[in-house]
Amino acid sequence: VRRGLLPHVVGRHIRSLTVHQPQLRELIDVASLRRRLMGQHILGVRRRAKYLLFDLSADSTLMVHLGMSGRLGIVPTQRQRRLHDHLIIELDDGHALCLNDARRFGLVCCFARDDELAHRRLRHLGVEPLDPAAFTAAWLQARTRGCKKPIKNYLMDATHQVGVGNIYACEALFAARIHPVRAAGRLSAQRCARLVEAVVTVLREAIELGGTTLRDFANVDGAAGFFAPRLQVYGRTGQACLSCGGPIRRLVQAGRSTFFCPGCQH
Ligand SMILES: [Zn+2]
Repeated sequence: VRRGLLPHVVGRHIRSLTVHQPQLRELIDVASLRRRLMGQHILGVRRRAKYLLFDLSADSTLMVHLGMSGRLGIVPTQRQRRLHDHLIIELDDGHALCLNDARRFGLVCCFARDDELAHRRLRHLGVEPLDPAAFTAAWLQARTRGCKKPIKNYLMDATHQVGVGNIYACEALFAARIHPVRAAGRLSAQRCARLVEAVVTVLREAIELGGTTLRDFANVDGAAGFFAPRLQVYGRTGQACLSCGGPIRRLVQAGRSTFFCPGCQH
């Protein structure tokens, strides 16, 4: 989403803010948000975990989280409002940034950039898996020592590393041939190296496929051409493993479904 937005928003000037539905995950303080956004230039868009961070000219940060169903798209300013269009930021080029969110778990807020590191939603976040200097095999091995939790649960804990959701955790463990129940603290150096590589590969592939998100927004009903086509294990209970032909199994860990191949993952 960040990559898709960049060419449309960087350098643009914010003309107005319209909030049709302030009650998202948290109630939007519309007056405060408008005061912070009005007249600002968008200097860049960064991402931290699943938060989009828009750098504004007044040393402030506009933070957006898409929750479960949120979509952020570029639409013509004159476009008729559609169902679930909750927030519209009008830009100076005839387009607007529009947040559409059927389930309203999304989040929008704006704060001084100096407060970013200490922000309650950002300060506990772990390393970025796509930061090659931070997410390394040596780091993973050191970090997991003494951890008795299953590696699947460890992977999904954003205080260690961010962005590895349930689908990606399952797919990465399959790619690394590691059993999801194996204790995180007992992974060998080789397994840590395989897992780091697998997580990075799975996330990169998902990001490449997700590049269509912005286009999909144009036809709002179009289900995103997400990650689904290349799933090896996720949601494939009972189907043949694409590697060994054995049946994919499902189990529940920390309340979430885990899909794995008992033949390939040890
Ligand atoms: Zn298999």
